[in-house]
Amino acid sequence: MIIVYRYGHRIGRDKRITTHVALVARAFGADGIVIDTKDEGVEESIKKVVERFGGNFFIKSGISWKEYFKQWKGKIVHLTMYGERVDKVINEIRKHKDLLIVVGAEKVPGEFYEIADYNVAIGNQPHSEVAALAIFMHFLTDGKWLDKKFNGILEIIPCKKGKIVKYNYKKILEKEGCSKAVIKHCEKVAKLAKEIAERIARNGIKVDMEAVEAGAWLHDVGRAKTHGIMHIIEGVEIAKKYGMPKKVLEIIKHHGGAGIDAEEAEKLGLPKEDYTPKSIEEMIVAHADNLVGLKYRKIDDAIREFKRKAGEKAAKKLIALHKKLSELAGIDIDEIVDKLE
Ligand code: SAM
Repeated sequence: MIIVYRYGHRIGRDKRITTHVALVARAFGADGIVIDTKDEGVEESIKKVVERFGGNFFIKSGISWKEYFKQWKGKIVHLTMYGERVDKVINEIRKHKDLLIVVGAEKVPGEFYEIADYNVAIGNQPHSEVAALAIFMHFLTDGKWLDKKFNGILEIIPCKKGKIVKYNYKKILEKEGCSKAVIKHCEKVAKLAKEIAERIARNGIKVDMEAVEAGAWLHDVGRAKTHGIMHIIEGVEIAKKYGMPKKVLEIIKHHGGAGIDAEEAEKLGLPKEDYTPKSIEEMIVAHADNLVGLKYRKIDDAIREFKRKAGEKAAKKLIALHKKLSELAGIDIDEIVDKLE
């Protein structure tokens, strides 16, 4: 267990730097941070990072050092420019499993130098608690912090130029409270949508694969709130929270049946608007959804169900969408379903 203790935090003045101490603690492999002064703002910012980027990092504030040090069963490492050279003591420190790493904001009380099991200097020059903590953690873990897996909703993929961010959609569904059945359904829709999209793209039609993947996984996220038709609107709101682009929001909004026009929408209790899938990505996801219940199903099964539940007009739209996508894919979508079954 590696905990960082932040001493002397001053609300307002130290908000930014204490947040950075906490971010460094988390990124470089500590299990949590304890701050002496209560600061809900700092707690909230760090919790938000953990929520999106993962890990089990905890943050507590408003805990006096006297109490915390007293109950601490492991060793205490105080980072100070007056201490011993880090490279001389790090092997000794590494032998201990539980470490409380203390960094100051304002001048630390003289007692700290006595209470600490190790007073460690990251070079004997004054600099910053953020730098001191980062370099200490690098020494402590022998650089292994770089391999730490955070398993978050967001994962950044290293790349030479630009930005590559991968979302863990399943985690979003779980976090929002979707049932196992909904998650399984979304996973199947995502698989089918991807297959359809790839077939269509192979025929030279431009398809945004990332939008298809995101939209397919998240089309039913609103079911965490309701299984009624309003799950469409709820879904859009949830996806917005995760910063999903407009393209993905439109996929979610337009995935109902094979398209809901403004009149139908009004009858169903949706805000009066046209919910017909328009872009190729919207059509692919809407139709993949039509061909997945808990299992994959062929178009004839889907047509029967549409006729029974939504009527002739909806069934006709379904048939038209199936035909259109099959033409674009150069293969009957039923054959793709067959392969996945
Ligand atoms: N003004 C404070 C004082 O005079 O004690 C120190 C401020 S300093 C920016 C804040 C913290 O950074 C210190 O409490 C210490 O934990 C850390 N720090 C700064 N320089 C360091 C160094 N060379 N080695 C280890 N820790 C250092």
